[in-house]
Amino acid sequence: MTIKAQKGTRDILHDEQEIWQNIIDNAQKIFKEANFKQITTPIFEATELFQRGVGDSTDIVNKEMYSFEKNGHSLTLRPENTAGVVRAYIEHNMSRDIQPVKLWYFGPMFRYERPQAGRQRQFHQIGVEMFGVQDASADADCIYTAVRFIESIGLENLSVEINSLGCNSCRERLREKIKNLIKPLLPNLCEDCQRRYEVNPLRILDCKVTSCRELFEQSGLLTSISDIELCDECKNHYNQLKKNLNALDVKYVENPFLVRGLDYYTKTVFEIKSEKLGSQNAVCGGGRYDNLVETLGGSYTCAVGWAAGVERLYSLIDKKTPSKIDYFIISDNIQEALKLTNEIRRMGKKADFDYSKRKFSKQIEKAAKIARSAIILGETEILNNTLTIKNLETFEQINMPKSEYIKRMQ
Ligand code: ATP
Ligand code: MG
Repeated sequence: MTIKAQKGTRDILHDEQEIWQNIIDNAQKIFKEANFKQITTPIFEATELFQRGVGDSTDIVNKEMYSFEKNGHSLTLRPENTAGVVRAYIEHNMSRDIQPVKLWYFGPMFRYERPQAGRQRQFHQIGVEMFGVQDASADADCIYTAVRFIESIGLENLSVEINSLGCNSCRERLREKIKNLIKPLLPNLCEDCQRRYEVNPLRILDCKVTSCRELFEQSGLLTSISDIELCDECKNHYNQLKKNLNALDVKYVENPFLVRGLDYYTKTVFEIKSEKLGSQNAVCGGGRYDNLVETLGGSYTCAVGWAAGVERLYSLIDKKTPSKIDYFIISDNIQEALKLTNEIRRMGKKADFDYSKRKFSKQIEKAAKIARSAIILGETEILNNTLTIKNLETFEQINMPKSEYIKRMQ
């Protein structure tokens, strides 16, 4: 029996790599401009890091972790990268570095989810984390960086949704009020919501089940939740965030239902969504997590960040045909073709040849598919030390001394 890729995983094939890589290159460029430095953390960490960091009551920790035992230690393939970056921040005493510490990452994440469109078990995230700024300008700058990155890969018509969950005491109040408001609806909500009611009632607002959403709508839950007041400091922070986003001309929608699936958020939360994606419509999500560094054993440090799903971004990009190489060398002298191809490559041009003595007509056919120009190196050319160059877009053909043409390439 042939062995296939595991359910919920996928190969990123050679003809997909150009667009895939372009996403990462654009991210890197935008992050460099915004003074973020890259960090790479291990793919597996102690299970406890996620239990404490992401939170015991979250779906991620409850149902989605790939955990395994090794030598008596419980290890987990990272389901997200904020906890790992925070671990590294503490472990390497980054609080002593020049503040704020601004980091970005790219890499695979693992969640045991039900595979469906936009939801895989191994997927990739690009994200940023900024440590050490309390002011809402950091939140706005992070959101703006996300918007710039997404626009840089040619995506439009995405909406930015924002909300504030407040500080610990606001959250406690929010939790109690939400429980009261939801109590009468509870018997008619889905199984997940029933479970979340005790352990993580905020998460109920994020339920994607249609019947639950309809019930929220009918019961006027949205208005009642919008009326819940934050404390003065959190209200002020949220107002500052909106002012900063306005100053940057970022269009946003306030969504009081936006709670995000992880436990560590405080104050700002946001998501960037695309209508084109159906029910798995978030391409990017993040927010502020002022308590996480302390929760994981460091000293109190404000922080804000986000993660974007690379597969979801990839699926939104118009797929053009892969770009062509510069030259395809056509010859029936394999050794001469090998030499010339590598001479051209050393000039920084993309070049290849046929590794064969096939008929020239066959070699030209292939050249037309993959290259912009063909260089014909037949018996006459080799004898006279010339090259025949055929432009495969205009079909113009010229013959000239090899040395002259090579000089032109420089
Ligand atoms: P969702 O609500 O879609 O489950 P989430 O809240 O679990 O998302 P985060 O943990 O915030 O997502 O991850 C940030 C981004 O990573 C998401 O906006 C999405 O683009 C992407 N992402 C999350 N889970 C998956 C997955 N299983 N497969 C592919 N992409 C994913
Ligand atoms: Mg999820």
